[in-house]
Amino acid sequence: MSKIQGWASIAPHQPLEQKTFDVGALGAEEVEVSVEYCGVCHSDLSLINNEWGISKYPFIPGHEVIGRVVALGEQTKGLVIGQRVGIGWTAATCMHCQQCLSGDNHLCASLIPTAGGHLGGFADKVRAHWAWTVPLPDGIDRASAGPLLCGGITVLKPFLAYNISPTARVGVVGIGGLGHMAIKFAAAWGCDITAFTSTASKADEARGFGAHHVVASRDPDAINAIAGTLDLLLVTVNANMDWNALLGTLAPKGRMHVVGAVLEPIPVPAFTLILGQRDVSGSPSGSPVDIARMLRFAARHDVRPEIEMFPMSKANEALAHLEAGKARYRVVLEANA
Ligand SMILES: [Zn+2]
Ligand SMILES: [Zn+2]
Repeated sequence: MSKIQGWASIAPHQPLEQKTFDVGALGAEEVEVSVEYCGVCHSDLSLINNEWGISKYPFIPGHEVIGRVVALGEQTKGLVIGQRVGIGWTAATCMHCQQCLSGDNHLCASLIPTAGGHLGGFADKVRAHWAWTVPLPDGIDRASAGPLLCGGITVLKPFLAYNISPTARVGVVGIGGLGHMAIKFAAAWGCDITAFTSTASKADEARGFGAHHVVASRDPDAINAIAGTLDLLLVTVNANMDWNALLGTLAPKGRMHVVGAVLEPIPVPAFTLILGQRDVSGSPSGSPVDIARMLRFAARHDVRPEIEMFPMSKANEALAHLEAGKARYRVVLEANA
């Protein structure tokens, strides 16, 4: 019987415990990956604490996996043993629904997340469908690439989906794990970038990531001073904001795109949308093709998440560091040799 050993979540608000799971034979379309690095995403905390009501215990968190292919099911395609690959939020989709067949696999109703009910990346090995096991391009920095697979594609997806122009003026709300990657991608994309942060000490860092302007996100006067200027406002926070002031920053035909898991409803006045023909939207992660495009773009422009490394054996310490809001800016677990 094949086994996977990892750090398992057994109940909400409990430390992870080291556990071994019998996983049986590898599925015909499954790939087994030996984990080298796994990013720690805020969604892992939300899943561990069952904040979204979808967690099935026990499970192994972790959905930003960098590793090597060690076993291939007999019907897998396009991968070879030993190949360096990444696995992000999604471990598998049905591959035959309209979304899967039209390239929107990340919108599949049968999507299986890598963490949550599945055995994720805080482990020695992870299994995923071959299509969601994405080869790493040459030149990418493996140690820091994990966070690209969830956070990175999440913030780059709207640029791909809405054909954001390099001349666009882009605002990024929240300079954390997602937001700092959004600034780096938007800078590589060529945009004029305004960072919104409630933390004054992050202003210089935001500029270092590529922001041209920094606005205090809790200062309505500062936000109102740039009213009507932004083509894309990317919301990466999961907290309540002065939505009226933020929506006011949108230029005519501007879009506010939400990728942060804000749990309270966001009020959107109809006239803000109607006058100026504005949009409010959101998206989850991206398809395997999106992820491959994102990785190639990141390798070409050397877009690297800022990371702090913990050994896998310190997974609980790494989670506590993230939960305390201390992560600058993403945490990555390194598999113990
Ligand atoms: Zn994530
Ligand atoms: Zn599907």
